[in-house]
Amino acid sequence: MENSDAALIEKIESLKKRRKAIFLVHNYQLGEIQDIADFVGDSLELSQRAAKTDADVIVFCGVHFMAETASILCPDKVVLLPDVHAGCPMADMITAKRLREKKKEYPKAIVVCYINSSAAVKAESDVCCTSANAVRIVEKLTDAEQILFVPDQYLGNYVATQTKREMILWPGFCPTHVRIQPRDITRLRTEYPQAKVVVHPECKPEVIALADAVLSTGGIIRLARETDAEEIIIGTEIGILHRLRKENPGKKFIPVSEQAVCPRMKLITLETILWSLENMTHQVKVSERIRLRAKAAVDKMLEG
Ligand code: SF4
Repeated sequence: MENSDAALIEKIESLKKRRKAIFLVHNYQLGEIQDIADFVGDSLELSQRAAKTDADVIVFCGVHFMAETASILCPDKVVLLPDVHAGCPMADMITAKRLREKKKEYPKAIVVCYINSSAAVKAESDVCCTSANAVRIVEKLTDAEQILFVPDQYLGNYVATQTKREMILWPGFCPTHVRIQPRDITRLRTEYPQAKVVVHPECKPEVIALADAVLSTGGIIRLARETDAEEIIIGTEIGILHRLRKENPGKKFIPVSEQAVCPRMKLITLETILWSLENMTHQVKVSERIRLRAKAAVDKMLEG
């Protein structure tokens, strides 16, 4: 660690104590941010942790929809997103207005929305899901005549293949995960014939078809811990490699693509966290009218 980083971290830690803050950090964050976290996890784990915290301030080191989810679950807390531009392009591929129009086309459809969506979109949805529980959530919708899945077409397609349900898919996608290409997996399989290949369900179907396991980032972390394989090829955003390597020093983790970087996730830095705590900005607050409706969809997910 550089001296300047050590000094920054000292300032952050002392301000954090003064503000009674907690740092919730997504698995895709920069290594130095993961290292100062109170908790590192995937979207589901982070929202569960947000719901339980007794801190006054939640510093959300991730992207905007995650901070909104924390605000939906903890309306009395101050939720800070250290960089206001840390949004998720996939979440921005749908708006509440466009979803309302789509619902008119399919009035009988149950709307399942991936957690990577705005609070306003969640408010228009029946149930929320994450990549960790999407299959289970859809399996439980036994009475649904039609299912409209938003906004990730690739996660939706994966869930449809697993559940054998026909689903109407919104054409959204993650610009980072589409950089993961089948040819890279094929090449790495030749180079590491003993390796296990695990990918995230935001990847394209042709990538998923080549994987040994398809898991959320939380699932990838668990698999890495439990598997006997010593070499694991990882098909998701490369921020996860920091934690995988730290927790499993005896194993080798190979990214499918070094290009799989989410630039918005990387906007959160030690500097922006310090600035955020000093100025108590950017506060993310969901209006009560939207919050209550969005919370119904999130609660339905957390119940199941
Ligand atoms: S990795 Fe993809 S889905 Fe996740 S925050 Fe970045 S753009 Fe959004």
